[in-house]
Amino acid sequence: MNIVITGGAGFIGANLCRELVSRPGIREVVALDDLSTGSADNLAGTDVELVEGSILDQQLLDAVVSRADAVVHLAARPSVPRSLTNPFASHEVNATGTVRVLEACRVRGTHVIAASSSSVYGSVPELPKHEGLATRPLSPYAASKLATEAYVLAYGSAFELPTLALRFFNVYGPLQPAGHAYAAVVPAFADAMMRRMPLRIFGDGRQTRDFTYVGTVARVLADAVLRRVTSSSPVNLAFGTRVSVLDLAHRLASVLDAPLEIVHEPARRGDVRDSQAADRLLRELFPDVAPVPLDEGLAETVRWFQGLPQYAAPAAQSPAPVG
Ligand code: NAD
Repeated sequence: MNIVITGGAGFIGANLCRELVSRPGIREVVALDDLSTGSADNLAGTDVELVEGSILDQQLLDAVVSRADAVVHLAARPSVPRSLTNPFASHEVNATGTVRVLEACRVRGTHVIAASSSSVYGSVPELPKHEGLATRPLSPYAASKLATEAYVLAYGSAFELPTLALRFFNVYGPLQPAGHAYAAVVPAFADAMMRRMPLRIFGDGRQTRDFTYVGTVARVLADAVLRRVTSSSPVNLAFGTRVSVLDLAHRLASVLDAPLEIVHEPARRGDVRDSQAADRLLRELFPDVAPVPLDEGLAETVRWFQGLPQYAAPAAQSPAPVG
């Protein structure tokens, strides 16, 4: 099979590329990425072909998709705070870009698997979140991801395109970058702890999230590609592991054996309070995928961080000459 991954040089995309090239039955993996938040380094040492360009470029997209048996559509302008800064940019990539990907796939009826987000549940208070609940986006990012999945499902009905829209919750693991203003919580905490800096927690820290290890996400996506899984409704991609942000900080401190110092900052606009997935549909569609437990995933993530040059322990200094 030939697979195209839009956003393939990003955090989840590059983990998926690595998973796919290791699977029998996969002939070619192409990552189409404009490198706006992703990096070519994420694909270093793999057999993946990186095509540098935007999903907003229909001609390029059509050419790349024309040789694909399946497209995993991950390209997006991610993060809630980014969308508050520039809502239109989020809309353009996440909504318009998705229509462009679907148009490219419509030509040959190519299977499309796309990333939506748990943020679409927004202000809906029920827990766990199941796919039958209403959607009430709280940010332009969430609205644009709702558009992503709505278009994917609409192309499934209107054009009988084989489609699957997966609502990712909080994904974490190796290749997820820290050290920038929009960093996700796990890398932001790991980075701060490794630098012996205080953790910044927005709000009281009792907000909860459902964390999924990226290796588990990559396995679900690879399985979806290889078995051509489709669904006429969106499907949560998380297993109901609900922990508070404070609990996460304690778990990471224990993995790193680091002291925990916390600074609380005001809660962020657009963030949801609680998040936890109902996983019935996911388990029905992917009965063979067992999630990596949180503490194991955090340990794996920390090992990856520890291998990065910026966190390497300084070489032992030779003592200064005396006298
Ligand atoms: P990421 O930023 O690492 O990946 C997105 C990739 O898309 C990047 O490599 C970026 O360069 C690329 N991209 C952006 N605009 C593009 C364009 N116009 N054309 C081509 N490529 C473009 O983020 P990620 O965490 O790997 O997210 C992957 C997908 O999962 C996104 O759709 C995101 O909305 C969704 N998602 C992620 C999470 C999470 O916890 N990481 C949660 C919910 C949903």
